[in-house]
Amino acid sequence: MNLTNKVAIITGAASGIGREIATTFAAAGARVVIADLALDAAQVTANAIDPSGERAMAVAMNVTDEAQVDAGTAAVAARWGGVDILVSNAGIQIISAIVDLKYDDWKRLMAIHADGAFLTCRAAMRDMIRHGRGGAILIMGSVHSHEASPLKAPYVTAKHGLIGLAKVIAKEGAAHGIRSNVICPGFVRTPLVERQIPEQAKNFNITEAEVIKNIMLKDTVDGEFTTIADVAQTALFLAAFDTNALTGQSITVSHGWHMQ
Ligand code: NAD
Repeated sequence: MNLTNKVAIITGAASGIGREIATTFAAAGARVVIADLALDAAQVTANAIDPSGERAMAVAMNVTDEAQVDAGTAAVAARWGGVDILVSNAGIQIISAIVDLKYDDWKRLMAIHADGAFLTCRAAMRDMIRHGRGGAILIMGSVHSHEASPLKAPYVTAKHGLIGLAKVIAKEGAAHGIRSNVICPGFVRTPLVERQIPEQAKNFNITEAEVIKNIMLKDTVDGEFTTIADVAQTALFLAAFDTNALTGQSITVSHGWHMQ
């Protein structure tokens, strides 16, 4: 699977799944943009991928900030001639029962996952339409795009909604050669998940080992975590797939936790 000279923006790429996708895309020949909240953290990842800066660049982009998203996308287009791939991946998790959830926390999560996906997809679509080469948009969903878990109301709501966004992009983008798909991972041991193991243990009054065995991996076929490499290889497949045969879909990567 080849991404030679494709330009790919990956949001939330200073850590976890996004960083692995950027590394994998670069190894497949892409020029990658590490877009994340803090420029220095993004720069660390960009340097690790290509210290010369010719094939990896860091951009400070809070995905909830319309001006930053548009300016960051424009800077990439100006430097490398247009965006071919967007991975809308930045995200957070908040663990709380609905009755205890602060409205501000609900809005903060929805802003990053839903507004952030809208703003980054809109900027990428505008650029792809302008340069006329089409492109691939990948949105990071989750098994929680299809299933619910207690204590994750805003996350489950946003992740379900992203499937709708990807379907609309697939329909509106088709005439311009823009494809859009959602990746739905099971639990992956990134900082986002490491943080919630003790939080879930406290909320359910169980041990951390029980959170892993009886909540996170309970419904997988083999009791194993999904890996960052599993997700990155799926992203590579979807980014390199170049016909509209595969658009408006969601692909679950979860060791069988969720089966469609
Ligand atoms: P992570 O915490 O390792 O990385 C998330 C990155 O997003 C961080 O670098 C963070 O700085 C960045 N970020 C947060 N808010 C941002 C904002 N407003 N603007 C720009 N960047 C921002 O987490 P991860 O596990 O790699 O998660 C990446 C994506 O994968 C998220 O959308 C998450 O919901 C999704 N996901 C994760 C898992 C999992 O088990 N880890 C499972 C399914 C889906």
